This record gives sequence, C-alpha cells and structure tokens, in this order.
Amino acid sequence: MKEITNKLNKRIYYIVVWIGIAIMISGLLIDNPRIGEFGFAYISHSILVFILSVCFLLYPKNRTAILRLTILIVASVYSYALFLFYPDTWSTFIFLCFIPALSILFFDSKLFYFSLLLNAILIMFIFGYILLIDRGLKYPYIEADPIGNFINFVASQIIIYFIFYLTNERMKKQQTYYEQIQHSERLKTTGQLAAAVAHEIRNPLTVVKGFLQLFEQDSSFTDERKGHFTLMIDELNTAEQVISQFLSIAKPDKENVTENVDVNVVLQSVTDLLHSYGLLHDNRIELNVTGDCTISANTIEFKQLLINIIKNAIEASNIGDLVHVTAGREKEFVVIQVIDYGRGMSEEEVASLGTPFYSLKSKGTGLGMMICFNIVDKFKGTIDFQSSIGHGTTVTIRFPSSNPV
Ligand code: ADP
Ligand code: MG
Repeated sequence: MKEITNKLNKRIYYIVVWIGIAIMISGLLIDNPRIGEFGFAYISHSILVFILSVCFLLYPKNRTAILRLTILIVASVYSYALFLFYPDTWSTFIFLCFIPALSILFFDSKLFYFSLLLNAILIMFIFGYILLIDRGLKYPYIEADPIGNFINFVASQIIIYFIFYLTNERMKKQQTYYEQIQHSERLKTTGQLAAAVAHEIRNPLTVVKGFLQLFEQDSSFTDERKGHFTLMIDELNTAEQVISQFLSIAKPDKENVTENVDVNVVLQSVTDLLHSYGLLHDNRIELNVTGDCTISANTIEFKQLLINIIKNAIEASNIGDLVHVTAGREKEFVVIQVIDYGRGMSEEEVASLGTPFYSLKSKGTGLGMMICFNIVDKFKGTIDFQSSIGHGTTVTIRFPSSNPV
C-alpha cells in the first residue's frame, strides 16, 4: 500500500515539477523584453532556470538536507533576480512573498525558519535600494506607498507562518498516530508469538519437573544432590508461574463471560484463600464490606485481580502487620480498597507499575500488576495507588455498580 502511494506521490511530484519548468521556460521565451539582448540579465535568468529545474528533478532520488537548502537558495535568488531584471512586471513581487512556502512542501521546519529569516533580510535590501537609490524610477508602484507595501509583505509572511505552523502540527500528529498504530501492531504480533512459544515451553518444563521430583525422592542420591534438585524444581516453578500468568493475558476474550458479581462473596473466598499465605509472616487480612456491592465482571478475572493486589500487599507487609480490605458503595460505584502498612513505593515505582516484568522481588514475575491493569480496564474500572515509603500503600479500585440506585 505504502509502495503504491509512494509511486503516486512521485508521479504527482514530477507532473507538478514539469509544469513548473514549462512555466519558467515560457517566462524566458514568451514576450520576454530581454530576449534579444542576450545580456547579463537574460543569461543569468536562463542559468537560474536550468539549475532550479535540475535540482527539482534530482530531489526525489536524493532527498538530502543539502539539496533542499540548495533548492531554497536558488529559488530565492531566482525570485529576487526576476524582480530586479524585470521591474515593469510588478507581479514578481508576489513571488518574493511566497519564497518561505517552498519549505512547507519539504516538511522541514529548520529550513522554513531559515528561509523566513533570509527573506526578511533580502526584502530589507530591496526596500532600501528602491527608496534610497532607485527612488521610484523603476519601481514607482512600491515607492508610491512603501509602508503599505511593507505591511503587506509582513502580513504575507505571517500568513505563511500560520499555514506552516498548522500543517506542521497536523503532520506531526499524524506521524505520531501512525507510529503508535505500528507500535501496537508490533506488540500484538509479538504478544501472540510469545504466547505460542510460552505454551510450547510449558510441556517440556512439566516433563523435566516430573523427573526431578522423582529423583528428589530417590534414596540413591546424596542429600546434597537432592538439595540441588529442590533448587531446580523451585526455579522451574517460577518459570511455570511466569508462563501461566503470561498465558492468562494472551487468552482470547471469547472465553470470558461478563456476569453479575457479588464483591462480598468473592472477597470472602479470596481472603480465605490467602489467609494461610498471610500466616507465613504472621500477617492477618481484615475484611470489611458494607452495602450492596455488585458489579458486572467475570468472576474468575475479578478474583485474579484481587488475589494479585492482596498478595502484593501481604508481600510488602512487615511481619505481624495487618492488611485491611474494604469494599463499599460510593454513589454509582463500588469501591474496593486494599491497605497495607508495609514498605511502600516511591513515585517512580508507582509510575512503573503495570510495566511487564517490572518487579523488585527476587522471586517476582512483574506480571501481576499488568494483568490487574488489563482486567480493570476491561470492565471499565479504575485503579489508583497512594503510597509512601516506609508507611504503606492503599490501592483503590472502582467499578461501576450493576445496581445503580
Ligand atoms: P511481582 O509481585 O511478581 O513482583 P507485580 O506486578 O505484582 O509483580 O508487582 C510489581 C512490583 O510492584 C512489585 O515487585 C513491588 O515492588 C511493587 N508493588 C506492588 N504492590 C505493592 C505494594 N502494595 N507495596 C509495595 N510495593 C508494591
Ligand atoms: Mg505480585
């Protein structure tokens, strides 16, 4: 597709350039007052037409900044030369106003500002020349109203600046949009590929783990060896965990149905499940649900979300600390808060949450928060973190209630 548009653009460019060249040549040949003289003016005019034509024709094959600068300088010299060589043709003044517009075509902002400056300097010289030396002899139409002409010139430059500014902004926006689309496309394909690979890796892992578990129980191995096996199994468990979390993100949406979920029931079962996990470091989970809390979500995914968040809270807590989990109604929203009094996070850490594989734990996967963000997003909820280092973290999750009163 890009190939076709490129070809089309090139063809249009050449058509425009050839029309431009034809107009420049007609200016040289048709009714030119200097045609018979073959003097300096006519020869310079011809040379400038030739150089400019060659530069324009070369440009598509050689899109360098130097060639763009050359085109701009030659075009400026050409326009000013026309103005000076043919004083009777007052309309050449219009070209002087239009010179900076050329760099808009090239989508080159540095060149644009340069041409604006160059044009301002050259026009000063022209006005100085007309007012002090020429004194209206060849350019009576400018000398008659120098201030009006000057204001018109400035106005034309401002208009061109606005056109440049607006087109530039739009083009930049389009470019970023295009890059974003490309980026997300790439992410999607890499995601699918990674999911396929992850799935393939899981099977051999299971086989290896099975054998290691057998060896671990085999009495012909020394205790030291068995220690090694345990270590290997541990590492394989971590790998398996990463893969299953990863696969749960890549799973197609079709399998998941949205239903009415009673937050109270799910929170009860999640806290029961994590109760023994908390007891490892003597952390207790305190649950407090008030009001009618039903939301539209998928029970399994909603559970996964809460497990990840509460597990993080337990892991961040100091030995013996409480983890508070509350849920309640706030107008048409159900608000769930998970509060811990543990290590807390800095602003940068909070900003990094949700980045795949971002983890500060030695055995962490760094996928938990990414999954949470996905789930919250999917059911039109929001998630906020309030955290201070050494004091703890409050995670606030909001979902639209399915029973708005
Ligand atoms: P993992 O738990 O596997 O490390 P997560 O995506 O669940 O991955 O979390 C990423 C990181 O965010 C954690 O490693 C931890 O540093 C930080 N984090 C998440 N929740 C909390 C919390 N409640 N308190 C302090 N740090 C947290
Ligand atoms: Mg986690």
